[in-house]
Amino acid sequence: LAVAELRDAVGLRSESVRRANLSAILRELHISGPLSRSELVSRTGLTRSAIRGLIGEFVSAGLAFEEPAAHLGSPGRPSPVVRPIPDQATVLALEVAVDSLAAACVGLGGDVLSRVRVDRPRGHFAPEEITADLARLARRILRPWRDSVIGIGTAVVGVVRRSDGFVSVAPNLGWDDVPLGDLLAAGLKTDLPISVANEGDLGALAELRRGAARRASDVLFISGEVGVGGGLIVGGKPLTGAAGYAGEVGHLGVNPAGQLCRCGSVGCWETEVGERALLTSAGHAPDGGREEIEAVLREAAAGSPVAAAAVDSAGHWIGIGLAGLVNVFNPELVVLGGLLGRLHPFVDSIIERELDQRALRAPRRLVRVVPASLGLDAPLLGAAELAFEPLLADPARWLGPREVRAAAG
Ligand SMILES: [Zn+2]
Repeated sequence: LAVAELRDAVGLRSESVRRANLSAILRELHISGPLSRSELVSRTGLTRSAIRGLIGEFVSAGLAFEEPAAHLGSPGRPSPVVRPIPDQATVLALEVAVDSLAAACVGLGGDVLSRVRVDRPRGHFAPEEITADLARLARRILRPWRDSVIGIGTAVVGVVRRSDGFVSVAPNLGWDDVPLGDLLAAGLKTDLPISVANEGDLGALAELRRGAARRASDVLFISGEVGVGGGLIVGGKPLTGAAGYAGEVGHLGVNPAGQLCRCGSVGCWETEVGERALLTSAGHAPDGGREEIEAVLREAAAGSPVAAAAVDSAGHWIGIGLAGLVNVFNPELVVLGGLLGRLHPFVDSIIERELDQRALRAPRRLVRVVPASLGLDAPLLGAAELAFEPLLADPARWLGPREVRAAAG
């Protein structure tokens, strides 16, 4: 190598190291909130002087500021605290759920700056109609932060190809082969990057970063309403499969003698633990939705044998499905969301008993089953995390002057 080439190679390498270090710091600040310089040193393994220089880049770009730390009783000099500035980089998060549409503006660091959720009647609606409704919600909440939005994340109750936000099927919406990413770009009249993913996957991401599964690395997030979806985190990374279709645990075959599933198969897990199964066996209208579910739980708590049997049966089938998943994935944590999270306090002992009887001893001992902690908003918050990902992965693209930032978007 000629000397000049060598110098270029070293320069490129140090530039890629700088970018990776910026990413590590911003990710820590975004996920953990304000941190002292010393905490950043210990979390990233970077030197004190490297941290100082890199923090300076975020401060001059307006993404963070430093405040002098008060003495906290620890020895040594107090370390300045670095805070992300939420409204300098924001994302628009959208959600198409079974019963509702939602939009939120979320700032760097995870602060929800504004949020709206509206009920929608169940049933089949044209994708153009839904995207127009989402665009209206977005306009309602976004006005003060419009100039700081760096991306858009969308959670949808369907099977999604991540690369372009193409929804291959969404039975609850009656959608087949819908280019949702393109429709949103047109509906929102934007050229900002738009990511779309399945709501189960995004609920898992949110619970992992900000909810019940913080700092866990092998987690099954399983959420049920009409359908049952899953987000599987393996070794700290979401399991996507070849194209993003992985995690459809609702269609795990558990009962060959069971009911016909919406997917065309028979005895899928969701035909035993989904909303319709619970409502039907409790003698309620199968399409009654959340209100009817709450009625069944009230009846069960009040001692109705029919309602209690329906709830117990759901618990039994939740345990059967989980036992198989625990054997395959060896998770440290199973987080139950939506209907399954709501059922958990009623059936936790049944689930534990099924796991004792059916799961292999070693993985069974390691696993804990807990309800989700972010509630209904988990997928929406996960959509925000998805939209932040390009910034977190390579913040250097946003650190230039404003024109460069616009081009990076
Ligand atoms: Zn199925």
